[in-house]
Amino acid sequence: MNKLLTSGALACAALAFSVSASAQTVAKPDPKLVVVISVDQFSANLFAQHRGEFTGGLATLSSGIVYPNGYQSHAMTETCPGHSTLLTGKHPNKTGISANDWYDRETGKQVYCLGDDDSPLANDPKGRAVSPKNLMATTYGDWLKAVSPTSRVFGVSGKDRGAITMSGHHADGAFWYVPGFGFTTFVPPGETAETRLKPVAAFNARLAAGLKKHPFVWDYDRKLLGGSEKRCKALEADYKTGDRAWRSALPIPVAPDEAGKLRDLGASPFLDQVSLELAAQLRDTYGLGDGPQVDVLTVSLSSTDYVGHRYGTRGPEMCDQIARLDDRLGTFLKSVSKAKGEVLVVLAADHGGADFAERLNGEGYDVERVIGKPWLAKLNAQVRADLGLSWDPLIADGGIDQIYVVNAERRTPTITDRARIVAATLALVKRQPEVAEAFDANALLTAEAVPDDVSPEELSVAERMRRSVYPGRTGDILVAFKPNLVPATPSATYVSTHGSPWDYDRRVPILFWWKGSTPRERVLPLDTVDIAPTIAAVTGVKPPADVDGRCRPLGSGHDC
Ligand SMILES: [Zn+2]
Repeated sequence: MNKLLTSGALACAALAFSVSASAQTVAKPDPKLVVVISVDQFSANLFAQHRGEFTGGLATLSSGIVYPNGYQSHAMTETCPGHSTLLTGKHPNKTGISANDWYDRETGKQVYCLGDDDSPLANDPKGRAVSPKNLMATTYGDWLKAVSPTSRVFGVSGKDRGAITMSGHHADGAFWYVPGFGFTTFVPPGETAETRLKPVAAFNARLAAGLKKHPFVWDYDRKLLGGSEKRCKALEADYKTGDRAWRSALPIPVAPDEAGKLRDLGASPFLDQVSLELAAQLRDTYGLGDGPQVDVLTVSLSSTDYVGHRYGTRGPEMCDQIARLDDRLGTFLKSVSKAKGEVLVVLAADHGGADFAERLNGEGYDVERVIGKPWLAKLNAQVRADLGLSWDPLIADGGIDQIYVVNAERRTPTITDRARIVAATLALVKRQPEVAEAFDANALLTAEAVPDDVSPEELSVAERMRRSVYPGRTGDILVAFKPNLVPATPSATYVSTHGSPWDYDRRVPILFWWKGSTPRERVLPLDTVDIAPTIAAVTGVKPPADVDGRCRPLGSGHDC
């Protein structure tokens, strides 16, 4: 038995499930299909808030091994870095994905985390070109294919960064949804869009036909699910965020934008539904899990994140979103369980998130917004005056928690200039009442690596930051705003955010489930970098020697 289980957790397990006499021997998984699901912005708080209501796929997955205190243990808790930890076994300081965007001081341009001009989008040569090139680590799927070339690896998401970072460098396909087209992918040099899109062509045609027939909603009929109706409707209320007064109510509005591109559908349960349907179809089409080899399906579900940003995390909209996610995950699990071999399902998240400031204020919490542009302008003015500079030396293109020091041409400054400006700015930033801590990135980059055996709960802010920095990409000064100070400007599509080093943005649930898994609540922390080495050990694959994560036994006889 796991000695770490508390007596309370044991009592719960005994009450909820009949523990057989053979409970000493806990089944271990022997999968032919590994399904790894990321629910974008699924905080441990959100999981706890709705856990008692699950009846579908989330109930099934919660009947396996549950880590309610998983951690993205780095500081910059954004989507691209968070997804990069899930299947590489490494923190962002090794995956190279330090943030969603960074500033390139050689070109003077903002760089998207997966930006790669050599790999255009399959559906639109002028769209944002992306590839796994910037991901400086390999994924579980890459390790698997290196020793088992017949294994298939597919990734599906509502976002490119959810599909690519999880499926890796050698996936058979990484697909994500773009409004007005369907699921697209990137086209590496020497390949054609037609070939790359072949696995999703039939699904896209069906999707287009369905949207034509039901122009707003595919088959999301905007009626509430039976069980969640009363509970979700009870959360309806009026709010004012920034200058905008709005009613938080159901059903979630889904309508085409001016271009008729159905953008609103992203911030609705629709996006998860079609992502899960495509993932299930890829399993059927390619017989994933049917053969003697192990196959991989990664699914990053983006609706929870879009709904969170647009409506907050505790309103009727999120209530409806989670109920439908639960429902559709149930359908998805039934579908992938048709595989002839055993299916191991892992569910985690790229980061957590918090509710919007105004609703929290109404409950007596003291949450404030920091508006980025004027905040940075004030710093620039002060540093210019203090150092007698003729230019604004500070840029924060990827968000004001990462400040870049540049010369008058917005390029790399001389070493002397950098040192002088960083020292003055750092001292100034630390004096700001909004700031908890601030760091010189160079000092973090040259600091000793954080030992792997420190619990994610015990990490200092500096150690969290150490796991986020990558040379040439990270800003010169990294800022941790005080907890509950949100660097987000409210708009019609954006009321709350994530990205901080605080637990509401770092803590995520991590669930392992397979048919025959024994319910286990493991309340001590687990780092998301532990997921890949654990799956690797179960499937007999050796991870690279420099992974940060550690394998955790999933059952008796599963030696790590
Ligand atoms: Zn995200």
